[in-house]
Amino acid sequence: MGIAVAGLVNQQKNLVEYSPVFDWYDADILETLKPRVDFPIIFDNVTRLMALGGLCYGKGQKHRNFICINVGYGIGSGIIANGKLLTGIDGYAGEFGHITIDKDSDIQCSCKKYGCLEALASGKAIALTAQSRLARGQKSKLIEDCGGDISKVTTEMVANAANQGDELALNVFNRAMEYIGIGISILIPDCPPPLDEEGNPEAEEPHVHGVQINAQTGDTYVSDEGEHCFYESVTILKP
Ligand SMILES: [Zn+2]
Repeated sequence: MGIAVAGLVNQQKNLVEYSPVFDWYDADILETLKPRVDFPIIFDNVTRLMALGGLCYGKGQKHRNFICINVGYGIGSGIIANGKLLTGIDGYAGEFGHITIDKDSDIQCSCKKYGCLEALASGKAIALTAQSRLARGQKSKLIEDCGGDISKVTTEMVANAANQGDELALNVFNRAMEYIGIGISILIPDCPPPLDEEGNPEAEEPHVHGVQINAQTGDTYVSDEGEHCFYESVTILKP
């Protein structure tokens, strides 16, 4: 049985050290499940397994080095280096959501640091940012959508409002995408260029597929396989 877990998975201790979604601390899921399940059990962080899935069955089959970024309720990444999943000593490699994007930010992340990418640009952050702007009196159709209760504004509501051209919602999405673009540009120097069969770099620069994110629909577009470009930033399509 394979389990993909949202949160910090410590591979050395075989524990889920922290999962903000489930509010787990040092959760020993093996001990909990083994008496109930008759199969071998393995588990890891959800985004690392997403990268592994891409390597074994997806577009990653053609690449030995790539980074898979997962933006949802939180933000994480899985790093494939020389055809293998990078776990790090304790299994924390790829915690992309917790790089500091804004050192002056007063927004605290679930990891307790301030200004993490996840605190500024995740799905949860998008909803909270919209709520905070509405609380400061900014105009938006979201007020109607939430029935006047700002605390009920969800990421989906913000996405729908952005899709209908709502200025506040578009602004919140665009800002989140800018942060993600900055984050990706920080990752690029860590992404080695592809190696040939003898282990020599095939190019001087890393090859990264271009990404465009449509702020209205949330759709992402990735350039075709083989069409390489050096990554500069995420392009935001404005309405
Ligand atoms: Zn953090």
